[in-house]
Amino acid sequence: MARVSVESLRKEYDVGSIVAVSDLSLEIEDGEFVTVVGPSGCGKTTTLRMLAGLEQATSGTITIGTEDVTDVHAKNRDVAMVFQNYALYPHKTVFENMAFGLRMSTELSEAERERRVVETAEMMDIEELLEDKPDELSGGQKQRVALGRAIVREPDLFLFDEPLSNLDAKLRTSMRAEIQRLQNELGITAVYVTHDQHEAMTMGDRIVILNGGELQQQGAPTEVYKNPTNEFVAGFVGSPSMNFVDVDAEPNGGGLRLTSSEGEFSFDLSSAAVGRYETDLDSSRYTLGVRPENVSITDSSANNSITATVDVVEPVGSDNFLHLDVTEEFIARVGSDVTLEPGDRVTLTFDESDIHLFDPKTGANVSTRERDAPPVTP
Ligand code: ATP
Repeated sequence: MARVSVESLRKEYDVGSIVAVSDLSLEIEDGEFVTVVGPSGCGKTTTLRMLAGLEQATSGTITIGTEDVTDVHAKNRDVAMVFQNYALYPHKTVFENMAFGLRMSTELSEAERERRVVETAEMMDIEELLEDKPDELSGGQKQRVALGRAIVREPDLFLFDEPLSNLDAKLRTSMRAEIQRLQNELGITAVYVTHDQHEAMTMGDRIVILNGGELQQQGAPTEVYKNPTNEFVAGFVGSPSMNFVDVDAEPNGGGLRLTSSEGEFSFDLSSAAVGRYETDLDSSRYTLGVRPENVSITDSSANNSITATVDVVEPVGSDNFLHLDVTEEFIARVGSDVTLEPGDRVTLTFDESDIHLFDPKTGANVSTRERDAPPVTP
């Protein structure tokens, strides 16, 4: 396996009228599993194809191990790619599909090739299928074969392009676990592209979030979840999405009073909380963000409680998602024992340590806590 370094990578199409990837820099450690996520058209596949050598970068460099591979052809890069559509040869058996890549990329003897294919097939639990052709296999089996074909080559780098998108939800979950198991056992360096933030969060050692071809944030999933760098990341990571409310801020005894123009919403931030933010806040407009799981229903009408009406109750088994009329799209995630009906009036509250404030012009998170700051307690 190898470490991978991407520096100021850029890809333009149509003589620069389309910028698919802009100034992307990433350092991927040996054995690290990095997920790349973002909405359709954000540049995920283009990034992966540049890493594979299937697409020539307009500028920037790609280093795999110690070799600058920016201008190295795909077939000369020690990279294996697993695609959404499996890309198996239909007329070859499973064995031949797995052995073919090995023959193309290594100088092993036939006996050694056979040993490695059988060993990998056993690891992937597909040894019973070795004589079958791809059209005799289910989608899940095909993807296991495609994975096995990549693994058997023992490449420096694995690239996954939405490999589980064609599978049903249950199979997707078990294949996710399977890929994680393999990654742990084999210590593979991998870049895994998905549009599914849940998949990216659960699988990645590190998650890289792109939008419009630009890197938004990279970090451990929990770090990105807790400290999103901007409103885009805050809204993209987590399901249901973070709630956002446009607020006006005015000084309030060293802290800030945040009110929405609709008047029902008022929230006081203590001076201690404001003091821990990296940015000095003042009288201004902000977008307040709070995650659905941090909003609770309270009996009290004490400070920092907000009255709202229940629009929809969405039961998801373990929890209920309450859609509330605070804004057009405001959700509280509460226990399934909270029995409410549409039209019920409720009082909401959340902790000041759970809110984020974003600059409405730039989207930047202006409430980022200082490094090593103790947690805010009310
Ligand atoms: P999706 O999730 O829909 O696959 P993506 O994040 O993988 O999207 P890319 O396929 O990398 O996005 O595309 C990024 C941008 O580059 C898009 O605007 C796309 O239209 C454009 N693009 C990609 N390939 C080409 C091409 N060959 N010619 C012109 N534009 C392209």
